[in-house]
This record gives sequence, C-alpha cells and structure tokens, in this order.
Amino acid sequence: MLGSGSAGNATLLANGDARVLIDAGLSYREVARRLALVDTEPAAIDAIMITHAHGDHTRGARLLARRHAVPVYSTAVVRREWGVGELPDWRELAPHRPLELCGLRFLPFTVPHDATQTVAFRIETPAGAVGFATDVGAVTAELIERFEDCRLLVIESNHADELLRMSPYDAATRARIAGDAGHLSNEALAAYIRGGLGPEVRCIVLMHLSRVNNVPEIAEQTCRDALAARGRTDVRVVVTRQDRVAPTVDLAAWPPPGEHDLAPVVAPADEPREASLFDDA
Ligand SMILES: [Zn+2]
Ligand SMILES: [Zn+2]
Repeated sequence: MLGSGSAGNATLLANGDARVLIDAGLSYREVARRLALVDTEPAAIDAIMITHAHGDHTRGARLLARRHAVPVYSTAVVRREWGVGELPDWRELAPHRPLELCGLRFLPFTVPHDATQTVAFRIETPAGAVGFATDVGAVTAELIERFEDCRLLVIESNHADELLRMSPYDAATRARIAGDAGHLSNEALAAYIRGGLGPEVRCIVLMHLSRVNNVPEIAEQTCRDALAARGRTDVRVVVTRQDRVAPTVDLAAWPPPGEHDLAPVVAPADEPREASLFDDA
C-alpha cells in the first residue's frame, strides 16, 4: 500500500517479477517516489487497474501509462466518467468477467459508492485469495460471498461514526460520507468482521482513513475488538496512512490455507510500522 486516503490511493501487487498497481491516485511523481521505497521502477509496472473515476484513485495514472506504456484496465463506465482522453493501451474490465493477468486472476464486481461505477476485486494469487474493496459505501451480500475464503482483506475503514457526527464538514457532506453510497466506517467494517468474516483471513489492511473524521489508533482498535469478538485475535491488522508507504504483506510467507491452526501468525501490537524509510522527509 503506497498510500491511502482521500488525497490519493495506490496499492502495489507483486507476483514473482510481475507488478500490478491498483489505482494511481497520487501524482505521478509521488507514485514514482513511493515505488522507489519498495525498490520498484515505474517502468516495471505491468498494469494499472482503476477501481473508479475519483481523482484520489486516478490522478497519476495517465502520466504513468503514457511515460512507460503501461496498460490501464478499467470498466467502460469508469473510463467515460474519468474522461481521461487518449491512453496508450486501455483495456476493458467488465464486472463479473474474470481477468487473468500476471499469474493473478482478478474478478471485478461493483460496490456501492458515489462514483457512477466502482469496482472491488477478488484476486486469486498462487498463495491464496485477496479481497480488495476501497471505496465502498456498504458491505454487500456479494462482497461477503466473494471475500468468504480470502486470506487477505484490503478494505476501507474511512471514518469513526462519532467523529463524523462532530466533524466540521457540512451536513450534506456528512450525510454523503455516512450513506450507503459513501464510505465505510470503522463501525460498519467491525459489523462485517463480527458477522461475515471468512475463516481463512489472516490479515486485514485498513484503507482510506479520513484525516478529519478518523484516528488510526481508533480504526485499528475498533477492528481488533471486532476480531476479538469473532475469536480471531490471530489476524494481523495493518493501518495504511496517507503520507507513507504501509508495511508489505507477504501472502507467500503464510502456511497454506487450512493450516493456520498449526502456525498462527500473530503480529505484535507494537509492530514497527513507522520505519523512517517510509516517512516523508
Ligand atoms: Zn477514494
Ligand atoms: Zn471514491
């Protein structure tokens, strides 16, 4: 996770030598700078997947695609709303049509959010399935089903309900964020964890935290409390930030699915995730 929040989102997925970027919502320069922190050249990116047309998911995509001839994948609806103009190599994603790419299998499906269309992904990797959903206004029955056997969930934890209520935002904006076509709250994610979390999950990455209406420690604690209520204190929780690269999550380091009882991976609560390398200088 190169960065996440309302000022820009980009997530790097690596499989062997293949590199796929999901969203490129930071400036090209910033995407390149953060890629360098994880030893990746922009030219090494094999594909860019765009979840939806909001600027915090698309900002750097066009320049990255043009400079390095990187194919960009989005739905036709997203491309139209994005209004990006000429791309060197645009390829169409269709909801519910699986796409094999770089040894990975992407299944896009639509989720509620206030763009014309927004997709989430179920991604099958050689080391197990990943559920990726940001931005997402509400947890749908389809999302629960698609993520049922995922080992890694990368999902939005945008705001704390209470902080949003007290927020300086005007009433219309608050209602939009809190609505089912807005952003997922810490509490809504917790409800999903308590009620719908699949048994194979080993790590949850919290995405798109609001800097105004959330606090990383509150988002993390709300998630951990829900996991504890589910009897899953073994699940690692990673909190992404807007201004720094989050720790890399390595699926291949985990034992195969079904064997998690043998070797639970427990992340220490005080995991050093603020390595100076990743801080903005
Ligand atoms: Zn966003
Ligand atoms: Zn959005």
